[in-house]
Amino acid sequence: MTHVITAEVLAARLDALGEIGVGAEGVYRMAWSEEDAATREWFAHQAAGVGLRVQRDPAGNLWACPDAEPPWWGIGSHLDSVRGGGRFDGPLGVVCAFEIAATSPRPIAVVSFADEEGARFNTPTFGSKALVARLDLPSVLERRDDDGVSLAAAVRAAGLDPGGIGQAPRWLERLSGFIEIHIDQTTELARAGEPVGVVSALAARTRLEVTLTGRADHAGTTPRSERRDALAAAARMIVGAEDAAGAERSLDGDHAPLTITASKIITKPNAPTTIAAEVRLWIDARAPNVDAIDAWRVQLDSLATELHERTGVDIELAVASRSDPREFAPELREALSQAAREEQGHAVPELVCFAGHDAGVVAERIPAAMLFVRNPTGVSHSPLENVELEDAALAARVVARALQTLP
Ligand SMILES: [Zn+2]
Repeated sequence: MTHVITAEVLAARLDALGEIGVGAEGVYRMAWSEEDAATREWFAHQAAGVGLRVQRDPAGNLWACPDAEPPWWGIGSHLDSVRGGGRFDGPLGVVCAFEIAATSPRPIAVVSFADEEGARFNTPTFGSKALVARLDLPSVLERRDDDGVSLAAAVRAAGLDPGGIGQAPRWLERLSGFIEIHIDQTTELARAGEPVGVVSALAARTRLEVTLTGRADHAGTTPRSERRDALAAAARMIVGAEDAAGAERSLDGDHAPLTITASKIITKPNAPTTIAAEVRLWIDARAPNVDAIDAWRVQLDSLATELHERTGVDIELAVASRSDPREFAPELREALSQAAREEQGHAVPELVCFAGHDAGVVAERIPAAMLFVRNPTGVSHSPLENVELEDAALAARVVARALQTLP
């Protein structure tokens, strides 16, 4: 018995995800946490309701599989969140996937990727990277959260064997391709007055970890000439990183700008009367192509050298993580565009996305695509993000229709 995908049915599924991890500051569903375990129960319940079998792969990705022999088309997103996130980033795609699986005549696997946000261990798209063998497991498993818990210990506490994660890639072989529905994390669709948009590509991204080593000393008695102030040098690095990006910025509108964010800082000893001895600083850089990021990095390296000579602070730059730009499968984008034209009677926009997504990771191995849903506030990673479920229902219908035409 088929039914039409509507805002009401999506709302019912979202409501069942309920208040898991919801606090005054938004949604807290860190990977490998108790809240994460609670979302697994929700997933199992949803899967049972549409007659799918739940499996958990060695990397912790959740699969709701049909009885038919693989390969299947995979649809999904993620259920984990950042600290203080919104209700839709991730869950929207999983909820739509269950509706598509419930209504599609062809066998669909619903996939919820583990630790997409990487908020706890700085391991974004952990689950999908495991599926394409893109994790440096020995070093990744040693990473520690702010409480000193290693990723290996957290994974074990969540019921998985860290030694088995390397077996994950063969699970991906069961998919013909993967489509992810996701909230737009900008105002782009809202400004265009478009409910949905097809993502053409994910921008390149590099995250640098900058370690500045100075010397702890008295804030009052140390003369300027003897100071090796790591925090003052870090401030100059932040400003310099933004200025260097400005030089790369294009104003002709044909290219999205290089986007720079100094996103995290840890300073030691972090005492009001002591000169900072050590600062660790993370800087995130994104652009449609790698060359813009590489040129920016060269400028930052020379700024570090110049600052070291001037201040005596040692400055080390290391790449914490990076991803190449990723173009989505043209035949899938065309199928989605065609389906959207048929559903809503006019062409849909294509857009470049500046965030990382699981669909972009698995696109390395299998045909993949993304459909964005309008976000009226444009805000993301915050409780202020928003979606009209009418728009989400349209997105789900578009994917369901596109699936009918795919091989
Ligand atoms: Zn997301």
